Amino acid sequence: MSVGPIQPTYSGGLDSGNTMDFPARAVFSGVSHTGKTPQIVLDDTQRLPWRRSTVSILNTTISLKRFRSRYCTGRYDLGTFEAKPCPTGQRLDSDSPSQCEACRRASGFNPAFYNVLSSELSESQQAYNAEPHNVYLAGFGAGLIKVGISSTRRMVKRWKEQGALAVCVVGCFPNAYEARHAEARISARLGIGETVSSAAKAAALANLVDFDSCLETLESSACAARDFMGAATPVTVTRLLESYCGEGVDLHVLKGMINIGTSSPLVFGGRVIAAIGDLLIADYRGGRICCSAARFESHFVEAAHTVPDINVPAHQLTLL
Ligand SMILES: [Zn+2]
Repeated sequence: MSVGPIQPTYSGGLDSGNTMDFPARAVFSGVSHTGKTPQIVLDDTQRLPWRRSTVSILNTTISLKRFRSRYCTGRYDLGTFEAKPCPTGQRLDSDSPSQCEACRRASGFNPAFYNVLSSELSESQQAYNAEPHNVYLAGFGAGLIKVGISSTRRMVKRWKEQGALAVCVVGCFPNAYEARHAEARISARLGIGETVSSAAKAAALANLVDFDSCLETLESSACAARDFMGAATPVTVTRLLESYCGEGVDLHVLKGMINIGTSSPLVFGGRVIAAIGDLLIADYRGGRICCSAARFESHFVEAAHTVPDINVPAHQLTLL
């Protein structure tokens, strides 16, 4: 999900000597990259209206246990980019989307806006689509690149939500429709996809990532896209890696990390060393494990600053 500026914001954690307790009865509403370091977003469900907490998790020890019951993850204001908890605390069925109908309507965002009439979009999205948009290429690991568009007002946030390691803007347009048109042309002409799955991102990071070669591949693809679009301005690369894991983390430590996102019951934890997009990565008993936060989203969770017991195959950890 998209998470906007949220109050109150707590920072610190067990290992920084500034621990903020997690809400006792919480719904997991996502990962936020609006602060200096990654945070998880938890809605305290003890009383209405729900109180939202964002808790910094980098270099802290956490335990996250997922329960079956699901609740609405709240709403998002396209004008202010502000996210809020669900005002009514709606319970969800096991197979429904992560927003209740009222919050979906209040958010009013259709990602496939170009397939419907403008009049069918919410007023807030019509205004949003009329803003200047950029077309960008985003790199996620060895050879893994996508093309995308974003409002220029929220593009860095959008890149971080997706977990891009680095990004190049390849075109600037007066509105979302012209940017979407360019995106489709670049995708078709250069054979660059418009989406990259969470599993593919995790797999790319678990292979040995040579960040310099990622940057080179991204830059050469961006130059090709710019040439194709007939743009004259030089390509510049924006590095985002440090915003996920702080300074000095070597991507080589992610080599061979185990994705435990399909285990059941789902428990994740350890000392968090990075949150790349929604991919949570932790040191766990001498090895590295990862899990998409989307696996927790909308679920009732038990969160604590302890090391949980996780069913990671022992032979996999000893291979690391
Ligand atoms: Zn709701």
